[in-house]
Amino acid sequence: MPGWISTPASAGCDADWAANLSRMVAAKQWSSGLSDIVNKLQSGQRLTVEDGIKLYEHPNLHEVGQLANMAKMARYREYVFFNSNVHINQTNICVLACKFCAFRRSKRQSDAYDLSIDAYLEEMAKYANLVDEVHSVGGLHPDWDVEHYENLISAAKQHYPDIAIKALTAVEIKHLSQQSDITYQETLERLKAAGLDSLPGGGAEILNDDVRKIICNGKESSSEYLEIHRRAHALGIPSNCTMLFGTIESIRDRVLHMDQLRKLADEYNLFQCFVPYPFLPDSTRLPEAQLATSNEVLRTIAVSRLMLDSIPHIKAYRMNIGDEVAELALNYGADDIDGTVRQESIMHLAGANSSLNYDIYQMAKLVKDAGFVPIKRNTTYTYFTTINIEPPKRPRRLNVIA
Ligand code: SF4
Repeated sequence: MPGWISTPASAGCDADWAANLSRMVAAKQWSSGLSDIVNKLQSGQRLTVEDGIKLYEHPNLHEVGQLANMAKMARYREYVFFNSNVHINQTNICVLACKFCAFRRSKRQSDAYDLSIDAYLEEMAKYANLVDEVHSVGGLHPDWDVEHYENLISAAKQHYPDIAIKALTAVEIKHLSQQSDITYQETLERLKAAGLDSLPGGGAEILNDDVRKIICNGKESSSEYLEIHRRAHALGIPSNCTMLFGTIESIRDRVLHMDQLRKLADEYNLFQCFVPYPFLPDSTRLPEAQLATSNEVLRTIAVSRLMLDSIPHIKAYRMNIGDEVAELALNYGADDIDGTVRQESIMHLAGANSSLNYDIYQMAKLVKDAGFVPIKRNTTYTYFTTINIEPPKRPRRLNVIA
């Protein structure tokens, strides 16, 4: 980690990563099906959409993973990042009803909720000494506008100035701009002035409007998703981006999705992290989904690492893929794993059973067990801390034979 100094745009990445990668790929024999791609990586060329499809279709997943792992090692060596965060979903009331969503409720349903600002602060208070980021996304509440979120964010900042606020997906920004009858730009400016630190990447799903019409009709269009993130980046607000795969999209749709994201990243360098996650079928309403296997999850992590040259971090989102696959993903090109989380509703209502409420030592152990060096980072990848873990001191509780 060169100097442990970073900016939101470089996000802790080794500035010489392309040259490092060139050296690393040259030192190994690759199968002939990958030779064009290896040559491009060696000479610092961007992979094309057709290359991305080839990587998806290459018969040897392990070889694609090795290539992606080299791309990861070229940027970050053996370091793997995580953050200490809590998810607070401020409301599950939503005016939309995306087909894949198990989280949303209508206002009249008995388990609908919307946290008042005081209730939200009470949630933060439970974790304030443990986390440095609160991650908040929720439904599109029919009565909440920009002013509500200005009040919420500024109250949170006033009480907890050291906790970064990563909140509001693109569709929530769109909803707030409509509720308040102002532009995306003005919405983002006001939220930034209130204390918003960064945007999460949720809601990208697949950036193909034909697919979106079926899986999330009424949500922002592909171009609106990109435009909202573009506006945020122009204002200096970093963001993440995501991909929901394993619904009804094709392999080409996935690679075209990555292509659109990396082109936007070229403009301001403020997409910090790409988070691919598979559709989880339980309790949701998309029976036509073709579910992704663990093999496909690993391949998608690997392809995204190789395609997304202008997005520094690839995240293994353990909330969705589970700890075991997340550990494997760290060997297939992911360099970041999210996170302590503490509490989460959206993925767990959709069928995830990953462990919540990890502390930083459990996270560090998970990273170490996968063969890497754990580094705790802040929200914007500008501050890094090493975490030393002690071996567990629990008694083994073996039966004693008298
Ligand atoms: S995915 Fe978001 S916008 Fe769509 S129904 Fe669920 S909460 Fe609402």
